[in-house]
Amino acid sequence: MSSTDFSSQNGAGGPPYANVKEQHALNPGPSQNPVALQPPGPGYMAHQTPYNPMQAKGAMPPGPGLYNSGPYQPIPPVSSNQALPGQPMLKRPPMGPQHSMTPPQSASPGPGSRMPPAHATPPPVSANNYQHAPAWQYGGTPPMGAPPSMGAPPPMAVPPLRPVGNHITSSPSLATPQATSAEYHATPSVFHNATQPLGPPTSLQGYTQQGHMPTPGNGAQVPNSFDHLEMGPTMAGPLPPQQPGPPTRHMGLSYPSLPPGYQNTSAPPNAATMQHPMQPLTQPYTHPQPYQQPSAGPAQLSPSLSGLSLQSQTPEALRVVNLLQERSLLPPGPVTPPTPCLSQDLQKINCHPEVFRSTLTSIPQTQSLLNKAKLPLGLLLHPFKDLSQLPVVTSSTIVRCRSCRTYINPFVTFLDQRRWKCNLCYRVNDVPEEFMYNPVSRSYGEPHKRPEVQNATLEFIAPSEYMLRPPQPAVYLIVLDVSHNAVETGYLDVVCQSLLENINALPGDSRTKIGFITFDSTIHFYNLQEGLSQPQMLVVSDIEDIFLPTPDSLLVNLNECKELVQDLLKSLPQMFGKTMETQCALGPALQAAFKLLSATGGRVSVFQTQLPSLGVGALKSREDPNQRASAKDIQHLSPATDFYKKLALDCSGQQVAVDLFLLSSQYCDLASLGCISRYSAGSVYYYPSYHQQHNPAGVECFQKDLKRYLTRKIGFEAVMRIRCSKGLSIHTFHGNFFVRSTDLLSLPNVNPDAGFAVQMSIEENLVDMQSVSFQAALLYTSSKGERRIRVHTMCLPVVNSLSDIFAGADVQAITCLLASMAVDRSVTASLSDARDAMTNASIDSLTSFRTSVLTIQQPGLLAPACLRLFPLYILALLKQKAFRTGTSTRLDDRVFAMCQLKYQPLAYVMLMIHPALYRVDDLTDEGALNISERTIPQPRVQQLSVEKLSRDGAFLMDAGSVIYLWIGRNCNPNFLTQVLGLPNYAAVPLNMNMLPELDTAESQRTRAFVGWLREQRPFFPILHVIRDESPLKASFLQNMIEDRTESALSYYEFLLHVQQQISK
Ligand SMILES: [Zn+2]
Repeated sequence: MSSTDFSSQNGAGGPPYANVKEQHALNPGPSQNPVALQPPGPGYMAHQTPYNPMQAKGAMPPGPGLYNSGPYQPIPPVSSNQALPGQPMLKRPPMGPQHSMTPPQSASPGPGSRMPPAHATPPPVSANNYQHAPAWQYGGTPPMGAPPSMGAPPPMAVPPLRPVGNHITSSPSLATPQATSAEYHATPSVFHNATQPLGPPTSLQGYTQQGHMPTPGNGAQVPNSFDHLEMGPTMAGPLPPQQPGPPTRHMGLSYPSLPPGYQNTSAPPNAATMQHPMQPLTQPYTHPQPYQQPSAGPAQLSPSLSGLSLQSQTPEALRVVNLLQERSLLPPGPVTPPTPCLSQDLQKINCHPEVFRSTLTSIPQTQSLLNKAKLPLGLLLHPFKDLSQLPVVTSSTIVRCRSCRTYINPFVTFLDQRRWKCNLCYRVNDVPEEFMYNPVSRSYGEPHKRPEVQNATLEFIAPSEYMLRPPQPAVYLIVLDVSHNAVETGYLDVVCQSLLENINALPGDSRTKIGFITFDSTIHFYNLQEGLSQPQMLVVSDIEDIFLPTPDSLLVNLNECKELVQDLLKSLPQMFGKTMETQCALGPALQAAFKLLSATGGRVSVFQTQLPSLGVGALKSREDPNQRASAKDIQHLSPATDFYKKLALDCSGQQVAVDLFLLSSQYCDLASLGCISRYSAGSVYYYPSYHQQHNPAGVECFQKDLKRYLTRKIGFEAVMRIRCSKGLSIHTFHGNFFVRSTDLLSLPNVNPDAGFAVQMSIEENLVDMQSVSFQAALLYTSSKGERRIRVHTMCLPVVNSLSDIFAGADVQAITCLLASMAVDRSVTASLSDARDAMTNASIDSLTSFRTSVLTIQQPGLLAPACLRLFPLYILALLKQKAFRTGTSTRLDDRVFAMCQLKYQPLAYVMLMIHPALYRVDDLTDEGALNISERTIPQPRVQQLSVEKLSRDGAFLMDAGSVIYLWIGRNCNPNFLTQVLGLPNYAAVPLNMNMLPELDTAESQRTRAFVGWLREQRPFFPILHVIRDESPLKASFLQNMIEDRTESALSYYEFLLHVQQQISK
């Protein structure tokens, strides 16, 4: 199917899908950094024809009836977390002159929708009443021009002073390893650099050494161009003569006779278990080896790639599945990502899919080929994930490509010992002298065995070139709602208690600072200056023009003032115990927080319990509960005011991130409030119906989340840049951040629980390339005041046939990327438009498979095995809280689900979309995992259908942030007594949230399983024990995705619908 077919087939397109190129670079205001971005290197110049996967097609006026409130107004995309040029709410000048604007592409779905209105009763599926309407285009938008160049690079603040020394420490992660770290179980290893030919020995713990750093300080008024810094220090001089050109088949020919690299490491495991690049520093460094270099050259490609065609041998991924006949499609355990079709040597060292993943593990050679596949191309990242083992490199020289600034990585090519070829821009670079020494093997002349070339994920301690001001200290500011409503929920006790318990576990060092602000109708500051006998409260009642009463004593050194801080935490809950103040001036409190932290940067933690009612940022309720179920489309998904976004951008410019904890029983307009976190790279936590007495499960959840939040790793003043091989480009980012330039995200804080997604396009044909690479570099300041760079590099093969593209499709990554895109579409266009687009995504890709890949036509709804779950996942998305219609979904609940889809890492997003259902009344040790002497049963994953429930059993549903345990009416009495400690079914309480600790094998197994599920995520899922009469039974049943509900199709009906559209 050609792209014109796609266009005509889909008729009129919807509004632009939030995927303009990232051109709205925020020019740092004059108070910030006068300096700006360097012109990107050659690898980043090629942005002529941005690929635009989800853009709707033609530009047409809205169809009648599709927008049921007011005139249609094109809204620039907000997904990219850019400034919103043209946003109607804009009341003050934009922050800089650099806002380029996407031409509004007003468009609308065509006259008919491909999906029946979801709030209506599903019509008979046989009725041929679906029109092919708007789709998500996998095509391009007009180019937006080259990234702005905003001035000359600044002089380097400090010349490199660092003593030369190489040490590689493999440091265990500071934070609790995730349960999944079972896969990273490589023995923690520390490589001591005993003999260093190039300099005096330095600390073995690379990160304990700070002597080279400028004296840490507050950093006030220091130019702060972190985006520039990530570009690195060596751009100053003219580049030496370039040896450009696309990669040729000469890659690696200098050593044609050498065996593939890493041969004499441990025997390659089979493909299924070969995804452990986090086990890098095991054997390879211990023995001198002949010069070897894994090459992406043609000779090294896996045989399966060249032989991949349907004619010769069909790989399992392309096995044709008739979805209408095969109903048991779920694997018994977790769905595993596909393994890229690379040589074993390359794949073994490739980035772990939990950290870095592509929707297509085989990259199409051309954009037109990608367009034909009708699959989105994008990356999913979890860049700051807690790792149980992370190689850390301290080196006076961080070796990077002189041209595109790529960090040297396992996928570069060594032409000889003195030259390496960049795998992103293909420039040939010199190997620095220092790099010739391998501190691990303590040998000379083996640059290819350096840890930088052996690990797809590693961290550098950055020398002083990577900072323009002294690394900031860890700074924490707690902002607490103390209005009557807030006090009534009892949350203050939990926050203060948790802070008291974890005060010594806050990440930081001797410089760590802390401060507190409370607010109701006024703003209260706390003087915690050393020497005071008790904390001093200072009330500012002029909320119109907020000022700091004693600027120097509100943010204090935690170590020096710990007693005063503890005194304050002990007395805070009582201080407002009798308050009758109902008003709440959140906006002014946030302004105060910004003022307080703008000199240093840091983290603001805001606890809010109601709709802000006073001062700037005051909001009015926009939700009419009576309209929830009946509204034709969902209104008010976009912010009511731009105050929170503007303040967030101010915060971002000063390296301040705001995390929002919303504890509420009523509508709080999360769509507006959430902007404060979204654009400042913060996190949003939401606890609906929070109350100390009435909702003990919610309290436990809040306590656990808070502990993780306070003690987890944190990075300050961070930027992340994603580079990709020449010919590819990034055009849309998803997550919480601000896009500072084409490929650079500003992250005032980065936390280990944040995920990101990006959409990519192919701008130049990748002909002659065997593989392409992607590199994410996260430059941040650790809580100990070090500049560090975490680098992830992923290599993927390039293919030139549709069947190869399909064979490498990663259905979970595709689903998660589509979910992010659909959130944007819901906000910029409408929910129904987003729903149509998701449905069309499955129809179009399966149509493409049928018409372009299958050689033998056969009846049925045919999918390649690797995409067999795609229609199921799409249906699951349509029924997900974020996108569903027809049920009474609270607006804040919906908006929160959308937030989660955008910034959670893939594994958790997938559980939100398609929960895992297990039968648990008959758990056995068969096939169980053994983790630290605990036996964890591994029951089979069941289809999400009431058919699968049996009245004599008990079933556990893991939906990510909530776990349901459904007890059948005739449940095995043994389970009731041995696991629940209850005599019979009737005794199951309506609100039961924990499993008793019984000394029975059944109890231990069940608790081990639930505990293991919980350990695998950074948040705490509430457990609800459900019986027929339970109020939450409806929520449980709503997750039965395969079943028909009054407002949505069953899975089988959905398949029939998809089939019908395909055969049109
Ligand atoms: Zn390069």
